Amino acid sequence: MRIIELYRQKAPLLSLEIFPPRMAYPLESVFDTVQELKRLNPAYISVTYGAGGSNRERTVEIAARVKKEYGIEAQAHLTCIGHRQEDIKNILARLNREGICNIMALRGDIPEDEPEFDFRRQEYHYAFELIRDIRAAYGDSFGIAAAAHPEGHPECPRLKDDIFHLKNKVDNGVDFLITQLFFDNRIFFDFWERCQAMGINCPVIPGIMPVLNAGQIKRMIYLCGASMPAGLLKLVDKYEKEPVDMEKAGIDYASQQIKELLENAVAGVHLYSMNKPRQISEIVYNIGLASPGKY
Ligand code: FAD
Repeated sequence: MRIIELYRQKAPLLSLEIFPPRMAYPLESVFDTVQELKRLNPAYISVTYGAGGSNRERTVEIAARVKKEYGIEAQAHLTCIGHRQEDIKNILARLNREGICNIMALRGDIPEDEPEFDFRRQEYHYAFELIRDIRAAYGDSFGIAAAAHPEGHPECPRLKDDIFHLKNKVDNGVDFLITQLFFDNRIFFDFWERCQAMGINCPVIPGIMPVLNAGQIKRMIYLCGASMPAGLLKLVDKYEKEPVDMEKAGIDYASQQIKELLENAVAGVHLYSMNKPRQISEIVYNIGLASPGKY
């Protein structure tokens, strides 16, 4: 089923993101995570597509098994930068064959470690081209989500221009948007309002990444350009060398953040699970989107 139908039937929805294990690790390890996450009764699970990584092949396989073996709707991420149109055609055909009908359509990051990479010579430059091609080849057979960046995408100097490009993605056939991580809800609410003012009327689902350890979050912030409110910065400074307390504070912070989002009528919450089901379960129970022992 296309995920947008789920949002139409019942909101707010809980969705969870997982990533494929590196090739050095057995594929099966991710299914222990899926088994635990299933208890939270998520509306769907999304599976990331590794940037330039050899584990890309695993995305389709994991998504297909999440759906067939665990009975959970699955969304496969797909990035287009670096792919030829022919590659994308083949991947879409495989997704279709495997019964996956939801795609998170992304551009992907421009590789920094490939000096010979020539952006201008790529067959795909932006996510809207991928979205356009999926719709042209498959009509409404696939549900399509796309990424939104509440603080602006790092490559785009003005948020206004980024939202203009976002509108173009939606106009090319996006059903709903999932945001990049953010830690200050005011940034999300402001962004959501600006999207609406620009005529973006589809659901905008906040993406939440709990701060579970100080090093990980500094890396993420560096990569995606999210800002850190003073309150959270204080927590990270205070507990930097105390991992157990850091994790507890991070779980509390994310729970509070989500509670406030739910009070403000978001259609759902997308949790970046980082393949950490125990911590994610604590958050989900805290916010009351699942009850312990119910499933
Ligand atoms: P786009 O929407 O194409 O935007 C990229 C940049 O181009 C922006 O600055 C935009 O303003 C600009 N732009 C867009 N259209 C135009 C135009 N016509 N002219 C000029 N400029 C334009 N990455 C992965 O590798 N794998 C994943 O699985 C993955 N999952 C993600 C999930 C979510 C929810 C999010 C938020 C991000 C995810 N990413 C993933 C990261 C994403 O690939 C990067 O943020 C990437 O740099 C941008 O992707 P995009 O789809 O937002 O690109």
